[in-house]
Amino acid sequence: MEALASSAGVLDPLPDGAEVGVALTFDFDADVGLRHLGLEGRMTSASELRFGAARGLQRLLELLAAKSVRGTFYVPGEIAERYPAAVREIDQAGHAIGHHGHVHLFNDRASEREQRDELERGIAALEDVVGRPVGYRSPGWELTPYSLDLLLDAGFQWDSSLMGDDRPYVAEVERGSILELPVHWSLDDWVYYGFQRDRLGHMSDPDAMMRVWFAEFESAVSDRRLVTYTMHPECSGRGYRALALERFIDRLRDRAKVWFASHAEAAGALSARE
Ligand SMILES: [Zn+2]
Repeated sequence: MEALASSAGVLDPLPDGAEVGVALTFDFDADVGLRHLGLEGRMTSASELRFGAARGLQRLLELLAAKSVRGTFYVPGEIAERYPAAVREIDQAGHAIGHHGHVHLFNDRASEREQRDELERGIAALEDVVGRPVGYRSPGWELTPYSLDLLLDAGFQWDSSLMGDDRPYVAEVERGSILELPVHWSLDDWVYYGFQRDRLGHMSDPDAMMRVWFAEFESAVSDRRLVTYTMHPECSGRGYRALALERFIDRLRDRAKVWFASHAEAAGALSARE
């Protein structure tokens, strides 16, 4: 892993003469986290989240296919158990699939034993449907040092939960190091679109979110780096928001030569330079 530590960083030169790398990622949560959100027994709240599986996912898959963009879907194990056909469809469309917990339990609220169970059950569920995952994103974007130890023990090649750089980097823990494809709250649609009756939210104008995302893209072009955006089918899969995403993809392509990479492709490109 030492060599990887020295080679991870700015993806330059980018493949095929690209000026910037863009990873469109989707956390396919639907209503798996309902219990942890304290929303159990609330049918409307559940239905809003299930929209992600019933309608939003399909709309986003069609959009990605129409734009010839390969994305990355982080999938909780329980989703693979409940919607195996949808998860297979994601895989067959050429998108990368990563582990996103089993019942979307937050690592920082779980004991070490619960963290291990969550990881193992998620691996088993995904393995049954699309094969063993090698990429991971933590539910709710929180890790403990123990979480990374578990990932290393289970042979994961990358994580996408930390925010320590805006370039891919190597996260070090006691037991070793792992490639990190970093995220940020400002590049997550949940922050702009997420809304619940009791907690409210922003219900942002998609064009306002896309202005922020485009400003980050401009910065990534000048840095020649990979930028990761995160979406949720129950949020970005709503009709007018999917249209905004479509315009966003077109605008990126108009501005620069973009390498739209799945996280598996990005991890592969970085590892190949060890
Ligand atoms: Zn999630």
